[in-house]
Amino acid sequence: MEKRVYNFSPGPAVLPLSVLEEVQRDLISLPGVGVSALEISHRCPWFDKVLEETEANLRKLLNVPAGFKVLFMQGGSRLQFAMVPMNLLGAGQSADYLVTGAWSKMGLDEAKKFGTVRTVYDSKATNYDRLPTAAELKFDTAAAYAYYTSNETIQGVQFLDEPAAGGLPLVCDASSDFLCRPLPMERYGLIYACAQKNSGPAGVTTVIIRDDLLARSTDMLPTMMNYAAYAKEKSLVNTPPVFSIYVMMLVTRWLLNDIGGLEKMYERNKSKAKLLYDVIDGSGGFYQGHAQPANRSLMNVTFKLPDDETQKKFIKGAEARGLHYLPGHRSVGGIRASIYNAMPVEGVEALRDWMLEFRKQG
Ligand code: PMP
Repeated sequence: MEKRVYNFSPGPAVLPLSVLEEVQRDLISLPGVGVSALEISHRCPWFDKVLEETEANLRKLLNVPAGFKVLFMQGGSRLQFAMVPMNLLGAGQSADYLVTGAWSKMGLDEAKKFGTVRTVYDSKATNYDRLPTAAELKFDTAAAYAYYTSNETIQGVQFLDEPAAGGLPLVCDASSDFLCRPLPMERYGLIYACAQKNSGPAGVTTVIIRDDLLARSTDMLPTMMNYAAYAKEKSLVNTPPVFSIYVMMLVTRWLLNDIGGLEKMYERNKSKAKLLYDVIDGSGGFYQGHAQPANRSLMNVTFKLPDDETQKKFIKGAEARGLHYLPGHRSVGGIRASIYNAMPVEGVEALRDWMLEFRKQG
């Protein structure tokens, strides 16, 4: 087999090696079943068990209380940009949005197509390098919900605490930091995440929704965009992405059994991110972090080098050391090191070592 490189891609992103090895081992024939997970019907006992275990693992990892449904959908997180207002924003109501980066801005723009939305906070003026303080947030107490993005994948800012939205149902796009830390689920109305960063391959999006919010989904909605329909059919409204859900089951099993749960994962994530932020902070301005220190992401570490030429050299040298997919998004430039749950500490250490070495050379 070709040697694996360290994959710092923002998504689809690195998966745990042990999961890939299990998928590979069982790809041609699932033990006790005799066919591949790529060929099997979604209406069979094997898949019933896969769905059941994936949900159970997520409930255990996140300590999801009774009174929430766990749903598996398609259409990626971008479909959720539309589904959230389609389902939760009633006629004559408005919703409050926090705009802290490119993805929440897209969520806001999509929601505008379905009703009235209010921007409660917008950090565009500083190119989305910060998050609001509690004092900066004034919610409309009559809003249908308060919407935010827990981790802005492009800019690299992350909420490690939920914004206080009073009694409003809190809706969270957790696409790029889902399962990176334990969550106080009782504070959420709805949380969603596409799988391809922290929980599996592309194709499936997890939605966890509080039961009372399901009553807002009217029968007039397209069935494929109706949360209540997914809850009623236990996510089997149509043929689900069987393979992606199967891999998510293995990833959640890895989090439970190999990592030991989300407290442990959170500790690991904090120490991995610290390795890189310490180099940035100790570089005398050679590496310039994009995010304000208090709002830095544990998942996407964004920084710049003094100029484009130096940056190209840095990326070239990184690739020669097996450190790949580091260029940042064009709207921010610079470097973005995505160090999701499955990025081994050795990969982050290798990047840290290269940053230190390059700084010395430069
Ligand atoms: N929200 C965030 C925070 C993301 O990072 C992404 C994907 N990079 C999306 C939404 C869109 O996800 P998808 O491609 O699954 O629609």
